[in-house]
Amino acid sequence: MPSKLSEEISPFYVMEVLERAKEIEASGESVVHFEVGMPDFSTAGVICEAAVEAIKEGDTRYTHSLGIPELREAIAEDYNTTYGVNVSPGQVVVTLGSSPALFLSMLALLDPGDEVIITDPHYACYPQLIKIAGGVPVPVRVYEEEGFQIDSGRLRKAVTSRTKAILINSPANPTGTLLTAESMSEIAGLGVPVISDEIYHGLSYGEESRTILEFADDAVAVNGFSKLYSMPGWRLGYLIAPAELIRPIQKLQQNLFISPNPFVQRAGVTAIKEGKKEALGMVGEFDKRRRVMIEGLKELGFTLKTEPRGAFYIFVNASEISSDSHSLAFDILEKARVAVTPGIDFGQGGEGYMRFSYAASVADIEEGMRRLGKYLNARKSVTQ
Ligand code: PMP
Repeated sequence: MPSKLSEEISPFYVMEVLERAKEIEASGESVVHFEVGMPDFSTAGVICEAAVEAIKEGDTRYTHSLGIPELREAIAEDYNTTYGVNVSPGQVVVTLGSSPALFLSMLALLDPGDEVIITDPHYACYPQLIKIAGGVPVPVRVYEEEGFQIDSGRLRKAVTSRTKAILINSPANPTGTLLTAESMSEIAGLGVPVISDEIYHGLSYGEESRTILEFADDAVAVNGFSKLYSMPGWRLGYLIAPAELIRPIQKLQQNLFISPNPFVQRAGVTAIKEGKKEALGMVGEFDKRRRVMIEGLKELGFTLKTEPRGAFYIFVNASEISSDSHSLAFDILEKARVAVTPGIDFGQGGEGYMRFSYAASVADIEEGMRRLGKYLNARKSVTQ
């Protein structure tokens, strides 16, 4: 029989939207995809070639459990030159994506019943990762009226003697928000270790992302190659942690995952050293799409109280249409053939919202807006 834990874990609803969308497509109809949480660009050729080369050379065995030295060095140097911090390769652990990096961080920090503060709305998997590691997620609401920024007063009130970490994410999924430097500095000053999910770093428009390591020495930064280098299927990520956490994390990694993939790590070195130009081109394209989608949503009558500045998401208040985002997302999919992610996927604070991803071409965005316009008009004429 399945365990209590596995029974209690929430599904990732966006996957269910995607699966239904695929069924519709298999029946021969087109669906516009605004639900996807990954770049629609291919991995740069030079990165793919590095992996193929490594495989041809026979680089197919386990590596050191912390990752290959060349990649750990490249990651440390990348953080140091991008943010002016002082990371040593010894603080870097390479992982099979940022998801395992987050999980390893939780496992290394939490005793049963320890609390981890997260925002609400938050990335869908955070509460589950915390619970699987034996911890208790403690949500702190963020509001669109406040630009989805973390209010330090509300945050302070949530800290208890059991708080082991604060998990932040900037640029954020699902809101596209960038935390201000003042906010990051305040959070770092609370005296609670911060785990900073920096997976959307580099994907910001008009403003640079800041790393938590600029503000705290005892923080854990988690990052990866899925977004900026368009490598989601490669499963490559990393964490940067204080020296005293590296050995505990290493033991966990050895037992759970043994090592990251050798040829994928070689491709990761190439991504950092030679993939930046292509990544920058993608960021420019995302910014263009972001503006097209914001305009399209406004024309449909949606109000955005704050402009999303990072990642590739727009979190849209749709509560005037329906307060049940799950039913609304499936209704839009069935009737308009547009896939969006229901806000409830991101916590109670996301209810009434829809997450639109602009990891879609401008032509798809325009077609999606047209379909949505038709859907909304039909809905209006039913309720009038
Ligand atoms: N954190 C956030 C906020 C994400 O949106 C995602 C992917 N959707 C991840 C972590 C996981 O990314 P990966 O495991 O592919 O690195």
